[in-house]
Amino acid sequence: MGSISLRQVEKTYGAGARTFKAIHGVDAEIADGEFIVIVGPSGCGKSTLLRMVAGLEDISGGEIDIGGRVVNRLEPAQRDIAMVFQNYALYPHMTVYDNMAYGLKIAKVSKDEIERRVQKAAKILELGTLLQRRPRELSGGQRQRVAMGRAIVRQPAVFLFDEPLSNLDAKLRAQTRLEIQKLHRELGVTSLFVTHDQVEAMTLGQRLIVMNAGRIEQIGTPEDVYGRPASTFVAGFIGSPPMNLMPGQAVGGRFELGGTAIALPAAAPRDGALTLGVRPEHAVLGEGGWPLKVEMLEMLGAERLVYGRVGEAAFTLRIDGTLVPPAVGDTVSLLVEGRHLHWFDAASGKRVG
Ligand code: ATP
Repeated sequence: MGSISLRQVEKTYGAGARTFKAIHGVDAEIADGEFIVIVGPSGCGKSTLLRMVAGLEDISGGEIDIGGRVVNRLEPAQRDIAMVFQNYALYPHMTVYDNMAYGLKIAKVSKDEIERRVQKAAKILELGTLLQRRPRELSGGQRQRVAMGRAIVRQPAVFLFDEPLSNLDAKLRAQTRLEIQKLHRELGVTSLFVTHDQVEAMTLGQRLIVMNAGRIEQIGTPEDVYGRPASTFVAGFIGSPPMNLMPGQAVGGRFELGGTAIALPAAAPRDGALTLGVRPEHAVLGEGGWPLKVEMLEMLGAERLVYGRVGEAAFTLRIDGTLVPPAVGDTVSLLVEGRHLHWFDAASGKRVG
């Protein structure tokens, strides 16, 4: 059983006057078999949280359970987890087979059982023909698969991945992403996967834990965090280009933002200082809408990005690449359906509607 509970988990680094609180009372419940991605910008505490689950870092406060067992004081080897690192950490002088078998030999697993598990992992990962090679005779992607093979053969209750794809080029990263998804479908092992890459997070995670400055901003499915971001932070972090965030004043069905007032298709949840969010693909060109002064265009192939301003607020519009685009310097009119308006409190950044 590989469920994981985090209850008021805290981490403080250092001692005395030079302490730094990297994790502030984090709570999360992860079900057995779930694939969870922990995502957030550099320094937000993702690796620290993962390393605390792994037992590689002390827990300063709170409790971590794995499979219903409090693991706070257990050594990594006693936690029934296997970790895949960014730098693979393979033994250079050992063959692929021995790299995968090593942990099992140490754990005194029988030779027959080792043979069975390594061959099975090699088959899943398509490493069968490479078992006698050494790491230096492998490509980056193959080394990454060996690192995963070494985790699989241990048959742990939980896989922990710390940015395992960051050393691969873009094409290989996309391919390995698919392999990890397939692996999870076949084995169904609870997985915690850390990344700063929101595309990786959206494509791999059944649920995402979005972190910022040592706190959880939102836990939800990719659809939740994209469709109903809990804060301006999540709205700006998930999605590329990010959601347009326009600070202004809501007054009786109109929204004033730096010299321009726009009429709203659906009223704001309340009047006052709010931030209005609109995804770039949710505004369309049409008569009688918001004025967008076009400043720059970018052709991406299937689509085109139109950068400009509504009042003083920067606004990015995503349009079909085959449409004739507006010209730089033009002012065009934007229509947005009411269901595509996101409202956030101006001071706290929290979602209010
Ligand atoms: P990245 O994506 O850059 O790896 P991260 O989100 O994984 O970032 P962590 O490595 O968990 O971030 O670090 C969280 C915070 O804790 C950072 O501000 C970091 O500087 C700090 N930190 C990490 N390790 C230590 C340490 N041993 N001593 C003091 N501070 C640390």
